[in-house]
Amino acid sequence: MTSAKSESAKFIKRYRVDAPASFRLRSIDCADTGDLDKDDAQSMLAGDVKQLADLQARLYAEDRWSLLIVLQGMDAAGKDSVVAHVMSGVNPQGCEVHSFKHPSAEELDHDFLWRAAPRLPARGRIGIFNRSYYEDVLVVRVRPGLLQQQKLPESLIGKSIWEERFQDIRAFERHLARSGTRVLKFFLHLSKEEQRRRFLDRLDDPAKRWKFSMDDVTERKRWDQNMAAYEEMIRSTSTPAAPWHVVPADHKWFTRLVVASAVIEALESLQLAFPKVGAADLKELRKVRKALEAEKPSGGKLRHRRD
Ligand code: AMP
Ligand code: MG
Repeated sequence: MTSAKSESAKFIKRYRVDAPASFRLRSIDCADTGDLDKDDAQSMLAGDVKQLADLQARLYAEDRWSLLIVLQGMDAAGKDSVVAHVMSGVNPQGCEVHSFKHPSAEELDHDFLWRAAPRLPARGRIGIFNRSYYEDVLVVRVRPGLLQQQKLPESLIGKSIWEERFQDIRAFERHLARSGTRVLKFFLHLSKEEQRRRFLDRLDDPAKRWKFSMDDVTERKRWDQNMAAYEEMIRSTSTPAAPWHVVPADHKWFTRLVVASAVIEALESLQLAFPKVGAADLKELRKVRKALEAEKPSGGKLRHRRD
């Protein structure tokens, strides 16, 4: 038990970007598995999923903090699979997932952070952004034409626009942190070769083919530009209030474990507890209990039911 825990603490530290100024994407091996094998990782994940369910129940009951999980990564990096597996034990009432797609006409009529606001998790909830406002310093930066679609006044589109957006994102996330939202960000770091394999798999498998989009091929062609944009984004927006984790993504079973460990660590650090019932309320509850016990079921005998 302690060894599994210290094992996960090790990953979190290894993949969290605590020194952004000197961070390099190439320092993280996409195929890393932290010396674990798949079976060990899967049984560790099963334990984590249970623990997450318990922590989420406390988060919900306490109703003070919220948790925002941001998932970014190239196509086929495993974002959907993280959502499906890591959150599998969590009560759906306390968790909301939103996938950010190409912005609508209404969204393009506003600033780039506007569409994220209504999707932020309420107190007590976990919110997952599958892609996010970070697309506005990634695909929008890399793919020609997208910035023009954002209808900004010409005089505001200068060389420093990306640095300005990084500043705005840092300020936005600091605001969230100060309002009680923990922000955890994950870049699922996939190798170009593993993406090739996963794309081939998608093309071959009728159950996955629908996921394939010609846009994915276009983005793949700009692989190096995408990696440069990711690296600069991580260096510019990893902060103590909202750290990036660069997670090896060539082995999905390992990716899931790292994300789950980081989420657990963040929730544990909040020291969540079920709200205490005061002495006066306890007295009232005892009265209610007595009254309920005195109420005979219409069929006759008193019976306690345990679900
Ligand atoms: P998927 O995540 O595979 O469903 O694809 C969603 C698509 O929407 C991706 O190609 C993203 O790059 C694109 N997208 C998301 N946000 C934006 C944005 N702000 N501007 C342009 N494209 C975006
Ligand atoms: Mg896609």
